[in-house]
This record gives sequence, C-alpha cells and structure tokens, in this order.
Amino acid sequence: MKAAVWYHNRDIRIEEQTLRRPGSGEMTVKVRSSGICGSDVVEWYRLPRAPLVQGHEVGAEVVETGAEVTRFRPGDRVFIAPKVPCLECKYCRGGHFPQCVGVKERMPGGFAEYVLVPRVLVERGAYLLPPSVSFDQATFIEPLACVLRSQRLAGLQAGQAVLVLGCGMSGLLQVQAAKHLGCRVAATDADPSRLARAAAFGADHTFLAAEDVPARVVASFAAKVDAAILCTAALPAVSQAWAAIDKGGAIVFFAVPGPTEDVIVPLNAFWTQEIRILTSYYCGPSEIEASLRLLAEGDIEVDSLITHRLPLAETARGFGLVLEGKEAIKVVIKPHGDES
Ligand SMILES: [Zn+2]
Ligand SMILES: [Zn+2]
Repeated sequence: MKAAVWYHNRDIRIEEQTLRRPGSGEMTVKVRSSGICGSDVVEWYRLPRAPLVQGHEVGAEVVETGAEVTRFRPGDRVFIAPKVPCLECKYCRGGHFPQCVGVKERMPGGFAEYVLVPRVLVERGAYLLPPSVSFDQATFIEPLACVLRSQRLAGLQAGQAVLVLGCGMSGLLQVQAAKHLGCRVAATDADPSRLARAAAFGADHTFLAAEDVPARVVASFAAKVDAAILCTAALPAVSQAWAAIDKGGAIVFFAVPGPTEDVIVPLNAFWTQEIRILTSYYCGPSEIEASLRLLAEGDIEVDSLITHRLPLAETARGFGLVLEGKEAIKVVIKPHGDES
C-alpha cells in the first residue's frame, strides 16, 4: 500500500509499504479521511521520530478483522484514537492521561491507504462513528477533544469572558466550544478572514493581533477576561494574554512558542492576583467521548473549517498549505478519493 512518509516539512515522499494481514485481536481499516494537524507541521516536535508516517486524525472503514475481534466487522465506520492510556500508572491515576508511561502501541500513521490497528486500540481506542458523523467530520474528534480538555483544565464556566488568541483550526474550535459552554468570547488573529470565521462561529468580539488587544478586551467586556487561551506560537500573543487576564483567571498554553524562545512571566503580579498559568497537551478518553457526542449532535460545526481535500499523492502540498497558514484552515487527505 502507499503511505506518505514525512522526513521533514519540505520532504514528504509517497512510498510503498507492506501491509500484513491482521493478527488475532487486530483489524485493518481503510483510511477515508485523515486530517493534517497544526502539530504535524511543527518540525522541532516531530523531527526526533522522523522518518515517520504522520496522521492521527482519521475517519476510517473496517475492511478486515482478526480472530477475537467481536466489537467490529467489515464495513463499520470508525475513529481510532492515536494511543490509549494504560489507566494504571501514576499519571493515569492522577488524570494526566496524556502523560501515561504505559502506552505500548500507537496507531500507525493515517496518511496511508490502510492502517493495521493494534489490539489495544481495537479494544479501547476504536469508536464506531454514529451515522450523523461523516469520515471528514471524524478528523475533528481528536482536535476537539484536546480543546475540551484545555477548557476543562481552565475551569471554564458559563458566563465567563474568554479571550482566544489565534484563530487557526484550534482557535476556531476553542471559540465554538466556549460559546457552546455559554461563555462570552473575544478572538484575535493577524488575518481578517479568520476573524470573520470566528465571528461566524459566535465570537462576540474580534480584534486584529496588531491592535492593542488588552485595551480592546477591557473596552468590550468592561473587564479583563477570566481565561485566555493561546492558540498561536507568536510571542506577542503571550504578552497580550498577560495583560488581558483578570484576577483569579487562567492563561492556557494550548500552543507554545518554540523551544528556543524565552517567555518572561510577570510572576510577582500573578502571585498577588492568583492568576494561573496552565499547559494543556493532547486529551483523554472521556474528552474523546465528549467530542464525539458534540459532533454527533451537531453542537460544534466543523464542515466549513475544511478548506482543502487532497489525494494522498498531494500530502506534501497539504503540509505546505498548513505551514503557510493563509487560506488553509483544515486540510484533509483522502487516500481513497472524495467520499466524505
Ligand atoms: Zn491533532
Ligand atoms: Zn498510564
């Protein structure tokens, strides 16, 4: 079968790989839709594992099941989580599922025609797609789950004021999820067309990143915000978050500046104001289930976020589009053509 092997962002090769038949407990799925994630193009993060087949946001169809697979059969439409936590280690017991040290097998990359799903993922990481969730929509299950986790860690509640900095795919999901919770939302981006999207998703206020964002926030909400969620690696956004956060508020690093960038934290002021700084990375099983529910019920709209559908052969172009960050919001690779 063919797979798109990532060496670095400018070197992605379509290579022939062997696909063995599923062993007992395993199953083979045909990848129908595979989303390119913003984190896929972050080279410092992905390079240590290169060359690799990326793709952790898949909508797929079961084509063959090994003996002992009883929950699924050929023709089933599924989402496969990239990995599942062991639920037993210290980190899992503390609710830090993304930090699990008991992860044995990961889902092989989804930028491929087929994926052989390991037993542990068949048992605990595979989810049947409800009829109302298309293969393309399934590519949002994991990113939305990550968004839900970050909002839960921040303690977001109805009525609170939230500032979302950066309106790429993640930021736009953050806007929608916060509105669904009943928050008042302001959003920023350098690109006016992305701000228009944020407004269409219900953002109450939108500001260009170059504006005096903290001042605009206070003018709009008559107060600083209860939560600021960083969905961009841009350093100026960090300073804006520092200046826009209210006493007792939470600043969430959903995206972070690069590993060589230093961030200066006004700790002294934050101490007396009890401002929390949080990081949020990946998601856990409960958030994947919640995400699937929201998508199935149409509470979060994702179809309009898909700006490009490309064949596997054009995976490199897809990465280029995401990297460029201009007209592309969500790029979905379709290894078997355009059926959504
Ligand atoms: Zn992702
Ligand atoms: Zn664990």
